[in-house]
Amino acid sequence: MNKPIHWRAVAAIILYLFAARAFCLSPVYEPLPLNAIKPRGWIYTQITNDATTGMAGNFLKLRPQCGSGSWVEKDGSDGAGEMGGNWLDGYVRMAYLTGVPSAKAKADAFVADVLKAQEPDGYLGNYPADKRYKRVGRELFSESRIIVALLADYELTGNKKVLDAVIKSVRLTMSKYNQANKPFTFVPGDAGYDPNKKPVVEDNVDEGKPAPDKAHSINGHVLMFVDVCEWLFRLTGDRAYADYAKFLYDEYCRSSDVHPDEIKVASLLNSASPYEGHGAHIAEHLRVPLFLAYTDGSEPYPQAAQSAYTKLLRYIVPAGAMCSDEGVHDFPPVPTQGYEYCTTTELATSLESAVEKTGAMKYADMIERLVFNAGQGARTADGKMIAYNSASTLLAAVEDLKLGKNHNSNGRWQYSPAHQIGGSCCSANAVKLMPHYVSSMWMKTAGDDGLAALLFGPSQVSTTVTGVAVTIEEETSYPFSDSITFRITTASPVQFPLRLRVPAWAGAVTVEADGATVENAPDMRVLTKTWQTGDAVTVTFQNPIIASKCVGGEISLNRGPLLYVLPWPSKKTVLKKSRGGVPEYIEWDVKPLSAKTTSGFYLERTAPEAAFRAQPNRLSDRNFPWAQPSLILTGSMRTDKNNPNSRKPVTLFPLGSTMLRFASFPQAN
Ligand SMILES: [Zn+2]
Repeated sequence: MNKPIHWRAVAAIILYLFAARAFCLSPVYEPLPLNAIKPRGWIYTQITNDATTGMAGNFLKLRPQCGSGSWVEKDGSDGAGEMGGNWLDGYVRMAYLTGVPSAKAKADAFVADVLKAQEPDGYLGNYPADKRYKRVGRELFSESRIIVALLADYELTGNKKVLDAVIKSVRLTMSKYNQANKPFTFVPGDAGYDPNKKPVVEDNVDEGKPAPDKAHSINGHVLMFVDVCEWLFRLTGDRAYADYAKFLYDEYCRSSDVHPDEIKVASLLNSASPYEGHGAHIAEHLRVPLFLAYTDGSEPYPQAAQSAYTKLLRYIVPAGAMCSDEGVHDFPPVPTQGYEYCTTTELATSLESAVEKTGAMKYADMIERLVFNAGQGARTADGKMIAYNSASTLLAAVEDLKLGKNHNSNGRWQYSPAHQIGGSCCSANAVKLMPHYVSSMWMKTAGDDGLAALLFGPSQVSTTVTGVAVTIEEETSYPFSDSITFRITTASPVQFPLRLRVPAWAGAVTVEADGATVENAPDMRVLTKTWQTGDAVTVTFQNPIIASKCVGGEISLNRGPLLYVLPWPSKKTVLKKSRGGVPEYIEWDVKPLSAKTTSGFYLERTAPEAAFRAQPNRLSDRNFPWAQPSLILTGSMRTDKNNPNSRKPVTLFPLGSTMLRFASFPQAN
């Protein structure tokens, strides 16, 4: 009788070990240096506009306190640390990816100021000496934002002095916060410590109410020093950085002084424990256990990472974003659920990390849906304003939106270049979205020195493959085109596998590549040949219109990565604002012309997508596809759910081209 039980136990152990190993193999892809991938076509135009006439190019005029002065003066500003660092991370990439001289000069000057303010012991943060290493404010978060911006600068310019400065500063931080002086557990004497005050999660409060007691809490953003560790580990191979990331995460999980708790191992291993806290925190924290799953590999990191990304799926709204009008609140991801721009940017980065490590193309699909719908749909096409909060179905974008939920007031929903709320966190973070997208479009295959096109859009990648210089131009107006042509240039003929992702929504896929062997891997076409200058590959997707059931029961229509919506006629009110003595700027309140809160349209119950077809838009502008997209859906819907003869013509636009809109519709009887 004992024998079968014994063998079952052995089998269970083997299965457990196998399952544990399954998530801690080496990463499938390797990121390319930031200067290897350049935007082309509409992405180049959008980033160039953003960096010059757009919000990104003018952010420091509206928020001068986020400039390099905070580092020169060591003024201890958490706002400058976060927003200045995030802005520079996005802006230095915009500058060098487009080559705009004025943008490069502005980014270079900021970097030079920060480097000049580095202290002899290596200190690179913006805190005054008496507040360092005592768990005050968001110390290491501020430091980490400027350091990742400097690492971006190093990869783009090749300036070794920048890397040396960063390494010196990180070595200092690692020597100051350690087992004897833990970053996430208060000790008596800390300025922020009062045992009688209750812990409150910062960032997850609604302004306008009495200021909550924030004393006894360390801000969880500090964990994102792991971004610095990961990048330095990749650049140098020095295990000390990976070990320090493990130390930070272990201490974070162990402490009850730091919040939010969602990404602590105990919460992650409890599948019933929901996401409720601040969305931007959770979105950025996702990539921490994932990094450790691939560098340490031992439990609980692989299971924790798996759980983190699995739980995320409960909170994805139709526009591809994560529920987060500041907090996640365990809200269901209905089409009217809000999402914050910071959360969108951080989620994109965490999904890019998941693509790189797991090689699972579902994460690439999620990125395209997030960036092309939520990301484009919460900004103006000219890049001059963003909405801090937005939603898939959006019926007003105004300063004080009364939704009966938390965190909806104080200008979060209106369009602005520098929201008064949150110190304009979202404006600074929005600068990062497209440059980060560009940098993840192409990666190297870790195993066989191949190249992989993982996220689509007009771009150019230049790198070496088995020692031979290779450039591939990706010609397309994707996501407005279903066809992509890759033109290859090589210094000499060179054989390598070229991997092209196949999105889950693609219908029939055709690949034209003279002389290449084409292997149909799951979610991927692998093309192998001896490539030489003049070779071209064209991949074409036959994207069908797909009807998807949303949480709440309504139906949305999608084609390729794009969610197609009904624009809702609106009028703008221009509000004039000024801030800190800087020149007046404008914000928009956007209100519907109609008082109706339903679209009045019904999709057919059977095959609702069959009533629509994709059609070119005669007004389209190749360079500004989000102002006038080249592909729209025309068709019809019922206006009386009981009457099949009540059909009226309807034109649907990509969500990213609209302000107010209906993203889903009820079905007819
Ligand atoms: Zn924000």
